[in-house]
Amino acid sequence: MSTTTSPVATVAGVDVPTGHFIGGRRVDSARTFTTISPIDGAPLAEIARAGEEEVDLAVRAAHDAFPAWAALGPAGRAAHLHRLADLIDANVERLAAVECADMAMLLRSLRARVIARGALNYRNYADLAVAYEERDWRSKGTWNRVQRMPAGPAAVITPWNAPFMLSTWKTAPALAAGCTVVLKPAEWSPLSCSLLGELADEAGLPPGVLNVVQGIGEEAGAALVAHPLIRRVSFTGSTDTARHIGRAAADNVVPFTAELGGKNPFLVFADADLDAAAAKAAGQYDDAGQVCLSGTRLLVEESVLEPFLERFHAATDAHVLGDPRDDATTVSPLIHPDHLERVAGFVDRARASGQRVVRGGARTGGLFYAPTLIEPTDNDAEIVQNEVFGPVLTIQTFRDEDEAVALANSTRYGLSAIVYTSSLGRADRVGRAVRSGVAWVNTFLVRDLTAPFGGVGHSGIGREGGDHALDFYSDLKTLQILEGSVR
Ligand code: NAD
Repeated sequence: MSTTTSPVATVAGVDVPTGHFIGGRRVDSARTFTTISPIDGAPLAEIARAGEEEVDLAVRAAHDAFPAWAALGPAGRAAHLHRLADLIDANVERLAAVECADMAMLLRSLRARVIARGALNYRNYADLAVAYEERDWRSKGTWNRVQRMPAGPAAVITPWNAPFMLSTWKTAPALAAGCTVVLKPAEWSPLSCSLLGELADEAGLPPGVLNVVQGIGEEAGAALVAHPLIRRVSFTGSTDTARHIGRAAADNVVPFTAELGGKNPFLVFADADLDAAAAKAAGQYDDAGQVCLSGTRLLVEESVLEPFLERFHAATDAHVLGDPRDDATTVSPLIHPDHLERVAGFVDRARASGQRVVRGGARTGGLFYAPTLIEPTDNDAEIVQNEVFGPVLTIQTFRDEDEAVALANSTRYGLSAIVYTSSLGRADRVGRAVRSGVAWVNTFLVRDLTAPFGGVGHSGIGREGGDHALDFYSDLKTLQILEGSVR
């Protein structure tokens, strides 16, 4: 481990530091890991690979920085976070180019909205923390007030899809609430978060307030969540990893939120606008289906299956698989050769177990996989019950609302649900009956940042978004004073 000037890798014309960002300095590790570009499989950079020693250094930096950051108060912290947001906006092109090379999300989406959402997260949480009004009331002869106390150093662990935006989604409320942070991005797309450390430094965040540690989940991630000085753990990733992280958080008696996978139903009723429903259903292949909220189980009312499928196939035929830097591309390659194997394995097993592959079901070169539709013969089939996280949808039919809801609620997950109907009554009934953290009616992915966000069942624990996230990163205290006893 050294704390000299860290090397940089030039990625898409942008210099990206390859070390950790700890206590306001670049720190290297003796070991490294390679990040590759999904676009052509070429190695992009050798990234510092943290072990326990670097993680300990980062947590201690966050611990040391905590008292002064907490004492700054919401307005003092907001000034820093607004500067960081401005810098993100000023660096959209660099961040988008690097994330596109590292993760292969469509460049035009990154430029137009995904990176800007990062800036919005910082602004939004900074302002919400300032606007918070402590609740006062009188009861039992006492005067009561609820106070938010910053919780301490927070561990933030993020997945490889939309790594920059999802990291800001968690670090923004943590920092606004007065926590200091150690962020561990995913090893398959570490680069844009390396730039986040650089921007935090440029924005003048005090050393140790935001630290970025790079490394492998089972090593750096595990050491981070198990560190005794960590007071909050916020995780987005797979359900299996959440079990490990939850155990580590429990050992230290630390509150833990988990935003996990989904097998989300996409319900189409006979009274729906079928053109809109089919276009949105085919849109679930965008970003190669590597979106946790995607509606991957199409559930269509039997009487409209044929006209729906006609429209769905036409919309899917219009997809363009290609280089994510090209404006014409709509479906990008999968993130990593191991992930391609995983996705292909799901489809191969489905086919072998008698599920009907209606379209796709094949690799198309490089890390691409064809948009795939499977008609299951069995609702208990693996392809219906488990998250694939790729361009693979299933299609099933239902006869009435009860059957639609029963199918929608028939997996262990419950992240999102999408409902297409023109009936207000049905929108309300089905919206209430589906078990999920969010239910969209006749739309998808539109989110108000102040709304609660999370999953039920194996899709998550706890809620982030708006005041829910600020509460999570705070210890709420009730101050109670005997009336008339103080002046
Ligand atoms: P993953 O669980 O493999 O990894 C997520 C993060 O956890 C990575 O940073 C990884 O390094 C780290 N990690 C792995 N093992 C660890 C351990 N033992 N201790 C500590 N950290 C560890 O998930 P992924 O493959 O990166 O991401 C895809 C998953 O994330 C999908 O299931 C997807 O649905 C989910 N996801 C959910 C949301 C949401 O908001 N609900 C958003 C995006 C992605």
